[in-house]
Amino acid sequence: MKPPKSVLTQALTLLAMVGLTLAVMAQAPEPDGAGVRPGVLPEKWLVGGPNCMEVPEFQVHEYNPDFYILRQSGCSHYEKPFLYLLFGQDRALLLDTGAGMPDVKRVVMETVDKWCARNGKESIPLVVAHTHNHSDHVAGDKQFQGVPNVTFVGADVDTAVAYWGFKKWPEDVIEYDLGGRVLDIFGIPGHQRASIAVYDRESGVLITGDLIYPGRLYIDDAAAFEASLERMLKFTEGKIVTHLLGCHIEQTDTPYLEYPIGSIYQPNEHALDLNRGVLYELQEIVRNKKGELQRVALRDLTIYPVNAEVWGALRAKRKEVEERQRLTQFKQPGGAE
Ligand SMILES: [Zn+2]
Ligand SMILES: [Zn+2]
Repeated sequence: MKPPKSVLTQALTLLAMVGLTLAVMAQAPEPDGAGVRPGVLPEKWLVGGPNCMEVPEFQVHEYNPDFYILRQSGCSHYEKPFLYLLFGQDRALLLDTGAGMPDVKRVVMETVDKWCARNGKESIPLVVAHTHNHSDHVAGDKQFQGVPNVTFVGADVDTAVAYWGFKKWPEDVIEYDLGGRVLDIFGIPGHQRASIAVYDRESGVLITGDLIYPGRLYIDDAAAFEASLERMLKFTEGKIVTHLLGCHIEQTDTPYLEYPIGSIYQPNEHALDLNRGVLYELQEIVRNKKGELQRVALRDLTIYPVNAEVWGALRAKRKEVEERQRLTQFKQPGGAE
């Protein structure tokens, strides 16, 4: 019997609701890829040597045809940061511009041009913004300022907050549409006050900047860190999270073992990606702490609280390593802070 239309409509509504309910569950019903667009991380990144003449300044990795990860080589700067370049139908977003004296605009624009050619477009507007405001993530900023078709967003907290449209920083979750591809952006201060997390609904990737990555989590503000951790857990609850991707690797592939600060060549480094479980691990430490947050080494990363004294020592170390790199490797800022 053919059901009356209203029953059919009701049934369809119910089905749609079931679909929605499934969509908001973090667990997928079947191990079928969870409905997100897949991508591939490299087996190994170009790890910065040992022969620096052989190593390009940036490795461009295609996670999928609309998602690129750029890694600066240790031969160019020991911080070896990761930069993210995401494409939508209407615009592309670059997060961060590198460390030291990076020749970054050339490699970014080459990638943008190739993407345009492949997608039958003359050009695409590029937005250049930042995961946070530290010198190893903003060094190439000037190269993108005043460039046609590029919107440059300063990394300082006021400029970034205004650009993204936060009314309540850092709590708001901002929907930022690249054109058929929505990103969710929220504040995660604790390492640095302008830090943001970027969740890509299309791929399920959560970009965590310098707050969470396989290495030393330099925590500048413990209370803000704890709140950001809670915010991340709450935000990711019910969502498919394929990878947590940060901006550095400082851990080796041996549990509990890091590369020393200033390492250039990291032949056995940890993978870039972490999973959501690490947030619970960090939360456990934070909840069980007695008094001030202390340094704690975990399997894949280290909680590393910093105060003025530790920041001072880190800056001195940076100066020393940059000077050493300047003499033995390629162009370096020459001990600039
Ligand atoms: Zn940082
Ligand atoms: Zn950094």
